[in-house]
Amino acid sequence: MSAHIPRSSIVATENDRAFDCQPSPTLAKTTCPYCGVGCGVDVQVEKPADGGEYRLNQVNGSSDHPANFGRLCVKGSKLLETNGLEGRLLSPKIQGQDVDWQQATQHVANKFSQIIAEHGPGAVAFYVSGQLLTEDYYVANKLMKGYIGTANIDTNSRLCMSSAVSAYKRAFGADAVPCNYEDLELADLIVFIGSNAAWTHPVLFQRIERAKKLNPAMKIVTIDPRQTGTGEIADLHLAIKSGTDTALFNGLLHYLKQHNKLDQNYIDANTEGFDAALDCAKQWTLEKVAQVCDIPLIDVAKFYALFADSDKAVSAYTMGVNQSSSGTDKANSIINCHLASGKLGREGCGPFSLTGQPNAMGGREVGGLANMLAAHMDIDNPQHQQIVQSYWQSPAIPKTIGMKAVDMFDEVHKGNIKAIWIMATNPMVSMPNRGKIASALQKCEFVVVSDCVAKNDTLAMADVVLPATGWSEKNGTVTNSERRISRQRGILSAPGLAKHDWQIICDVAKAMGFEQGFNYLNPSEIFREHAGLTAYKNHGLRALDLSALQHISEKEYDRLKPVQWPINANNRSGTQRLFTDGQFYTASKKAQFIALQPKAPEVATSADFPFVLNSGRIRDQWHTMTRTGKTAELTGHIDRAFVHMHPLDAKQNGICDGDFLEITSAISQKHAQTEQHKKVIMPVKLQPQQRTGELFAPIHWSGTNSSSSAIAALYSDASDAVSGQPELKHSAVNVKLCNYPLHGQLFTRKKLDHRLLNQVAEYWSEIAIDQGYLVYFASDNAEMVSELQVNLPLCTEWFSSRQKTELGDKRNIFALRDGGLDLALFWDSNAPQMDVNWINSLLQQTALLDEQKSALLRATPDPAFAQGRLICSCFKVGENTIVEAIKQGCNSVDKLGDELKCGTNCGSCKTELKQLVKSHTYEGNITILDAELKPLQTGT
Ligand code: SF4
Repeated sequence: MSAHIPRSSIVATENDRAFDCQPSPTLAKTTCPYCGVGCGVDVQVEKPADGGEYRLNQVNGSSDHPANFGRLCVKGSKLLETNGLEGRLLSPKIQGQDVDWQQATQHVANKFSQIIAEHGPGAVAFYVSGQLLTEDYYVANKLMKGYIGTANIDTNSRLCMSSAVSAYKRAFGADAVPCNYEDLELADLIVFIGSNAAWTHPVLFQRIERAKKLNPAMKIVTIDPRQTGTGEIADLHLAIKSGTDTALFNGLLHYLKQHNKLDQNYIDANTEGFDAALDCAKQWTLEKVAQVCDIPLIDVAKFYALFADSDKAVSAYTMGVNQSSSGTDKANSIINCHLASGKLGREGCGPFSLTGQPNAMGGREVGGLANMLAAHMDIDNPQHQQIVQSYWQSPAIPKTIGMKAVDMFDEVHKGNIKAIWIMATNPMVSMPNRGKIASALQKCEFVVVSDCVAKNDTLAMADVVLPATGWSEKNGTVTNSERRISRQRGILSAPGLAKHDWQIICDVAKAMGFEQGFNYLNPSEIFREHAGLTAYKNHGLRALDLSALQHISEKEYDRLKPVQWPINANNRSGTQRLFTDGQFYTASKKAQFIALQPKAPEVATSADFPFVLNSGRIRDQWHTMTRTGKTAELTGHIDRAFVHMHPLDAKQNGICDGDFLEITSAISQKHAQTEQHKKVIMPVKLQPQQRTGELFAPIHWSGTNSSSSAIAALYSDASDAVSGQPELKHSAVNVKLCNYPLHGQLFTRKKLDHRLLNQVAEYWSEIAIDQGYLVYFASDNAEMVSELQVNLPLCTEWFSSRQKTELGDKRNIFALRDGGLDLALFWDSNAPQMDVNWINSLLQQTALLDEQKSALLRATPDPAFAQGRLICSCFKVGENTIVEAIKQGCNSVDKLGDELKCGTNCGSCKTELKQLVKSHTYEGNITILDAELKPLQTGT
């Protein structure tokens, strides 16, 4: 952590440091800020003897947190490495100039008030985030809906799980996840649909892996167009054609009926609409499902039999289901099967939407979506409008739903929304149709962005930026995928002038003249008000009920243990499972089957755009890399964006592994503001686990760290009609081979100005390494070295070697500054791959030895630096080392762990270790398995 940046005492009172209220002043119990698993984190805190700022020394998984019982994945275990102050936004700015809070707050308040006065409340909007804490979210929603008087507040959770919300509401009458993590361990069958949990919900995946080890009879089915790491523990994988989930589950419903596997008692007693749903499903025979989903009939039959014959089954689904123009239908097709077979409301059962973000569910609880009121009440319900307004005593309440994310930015683009405040999210990278989002924000009269980082693609568009606190400073609550509310505790005080989001929002509200509703002293006051609203006139009508927490003291709030809602007089210590009595929150108290006709994805492939583009997350990165991209510990696993393609597609198109592809879609061509923005450029990785005709690329990269790897540009506004969730898993794209004569790696001690990188290379992608930065580039600019020399005058000594090879020129160049290595550049026509650890070791030295200079010129590292791609981020074990160990007889993940320690800490790499064991066990030598150690029969 940078010692010279002061941490402010303006907003950080001792009350913020909630850990001081805990039993040990050296241990803070908080929650991981990344995914929806919501792991508890124990932070060792040290108060230096000289009375200086608290220091965070170590993180461990909380052994007593029911989400993770001591585990953390690699992202969680590297929380301290990403918690430094480099890259933080530390002061408010207007048009790039530092200002004080008074000026910034008044300016935002005046501008919003002026636009509302001139154009009405519908001319302003908030776009918020599942990264906000519930308390932040609550006041943002209260300001927009209760005081400004419009429902134009939406959240990036719209992109993540709004289809799951709509489906739960249609089926159960409430946005209520029926099951919990323990059910995943108790199930006979787990079906993962559109989920690579091994990478996206790693701790949950490890719990399941362990449960399967303890109970080998447990079956796991994965349903995903791609075969991912999650499939490593699966008994069956269905590589369905992208977008055909509803057909598959309609087929299952039909199968259950045909094979007498319905729970007729459950259907009769607790549900409605079964006949209509079955009517739609009955055309979905095994044959038709196999044909439409494009998978073997025998696999369809196996899956259906497994589901039908398992007494307890959980279907766990996430973005692969939700991010679709028919995401709500897909989720309902899954729920239909659980209702029809009575696999709901009991141990080991349920349709389980795994949320992506740490507080997606908390945002839903306080009404952070444009189509709901606070406390799970409905905007279009006059009684609910009255309940919320009377509780808030607010001047206004919206009567109609506001703009959902895609429509919101569309209205900004059209000029109807004239002021937007974006909080803790980066829509330039995460929203579809990047070109249109960029021109919307450029045109918008007034853009405010509050964030904890100083630089990202969206901040670059802001008129006003407001510094917010980050993890380790924020203080409040989050709700994870299983309805469990946990405390994220403030441990450090705010750095620079940063403030908590709830404070920023309340200050602006008061400056707009809304003194009454926003006078909170600390987050516990907001939490009590939120809990009170869930209880207010509830009478058992709404699932979300925190009435047992509405009067907790500040101390009790600080000591709040993780607890699952509802928490009320009947369930004072929370509720593990919902709907155990077969009663739902619909008007009839019965669950609703939904009759479904499968729909094709909205953007179809064509002769011009023949490939489907699927998208997703990688193991060690989170969202747009603004935090996880800060440390080499997390960038080493996958160091740049890529596009996966099946080898057959590659062969047909004359593409080889590592080639660069220019990827375009109809939408990228329509909305791009420049030629460069019309296309995404990435290296291709051939991947036999990919379906032919379908590509996959990760979502994390942006204009902040690469020239052209932000794939949001390729997705259109196509969205689910019910939920408004955009179709971020299915675009139609074309690929074109790019032939760059120069490919290389550029290592630098200091970050280079990206304008210089744009000048010297057509393609570049930058990551942090331990001692500086690594830029991968591709270029046809033979003058790039002279341009670098001109622009880096402090590098006084330049060394260069050139070799002619059959494949063309090879150049190795390095530059010294004050005797130490400042820059090393390796290029040839064939993408060199220098070992990062080797260059790190040289960058670390104050002066290079002659033999080291010579090694750089020959591009020949010491053999000690030949680990290859990083697989285990915790113990820094590379692929080559692991493969060598496998060849020496470490033929299991456990043996690799014993030998190299890889996989023995957070376990996130275990699926990759399994894959390596599988592919290298029999390569080049014979490995004797334990089972084969038996005497050979003689005389035969
Ligand atoms: Fe954080 Fe990993 Fe747990 Fe998700 S699984 S909450 S990223 S530690």
